[in-house]
Amino acid sequence: MAALRIGGLTPLTTLDYPGHLASVVFLQGCAWRCRYCHNPELMDAGAPTEIDWADVLHMLHERREFIDAVVFSGGEPLLQNGLEDAIAEVKAMGLKVALHTSGMVVKRFAQLLPQLDWVALDIKHLPAQTDLVTQVEDSGHANWAALTRLLVSETPYEVRTTAHPQLISADGIMRLALTLQGMGVENYALQISHNQRCFDPKLSNLHYDPLELKELEGKLSGLFPHFEIRH
Ligand code: SF4
Repeated sequence: MAALRIGGLTPLTTLDYPGHLASVVFLQGCAWRCRYCHNPELMDAGAPTEIDWADVLHMLHERREFIDAVVFSGGEPLLQNGLEDAIAEVKAMGLKVALHTSGMVVKRFAQLLPQLDWVALDIKHLPAQTDLVTQVEDSGHANWAALTRLLVSETPYEVRTTAHPQLISADGIMRLALTLQGMGVENYALQISHNQRCFDPKLSNLHYDPLELKELEGKLSGLFPHFEIRH
């Protein structure tokens, strides 16, 4: 049985894997320190956890007729050695598997892509500015290398960016979106940070100008076949 460190569990959701009824398993630990992170309690890989993977599998068996997928989220799922086995165990139950990730372990991400039914990949910022968000040196390298691997795979995906006005301007979002479009991204979502429960309490309570955001939404809708803005 897979060895996983689990920080949380949502038994049923329709939001985390579009078009699917899924359970979400939040894996404990992340190597980045994104200033807007809304799950800071999942950052510490050594934090005590109370949920066993064996119990999760048991719950999945019991709910098998009500769900069609499991989402591995975090934290950063790719940091856990047991992820591949866990994916295989879920697939053996006839369930689909989705992954929420920032792609920070690129080799493992590339190896797992063929087993995944859907991926949501967080792209933090343009490569040279990624560290401003993650507070980890050279994190843009892995983040964008993962995107390259995703785009040459056949795995369905969403690329998403969480935007906070103190970390990326509306012009910066436009430059980022044009770069993503140039790489061939077809499914893109922009998530506006809500300034609540941010890891970095110094992130100010700024908001994008609503008119500027509306204009941006119009431009981004024209760049991607599938685009969504989430407020
Ligand atoms: S938002 Fe950043 S710090 Fe938080 S879990 Fe995701 S990658 Fe890690």
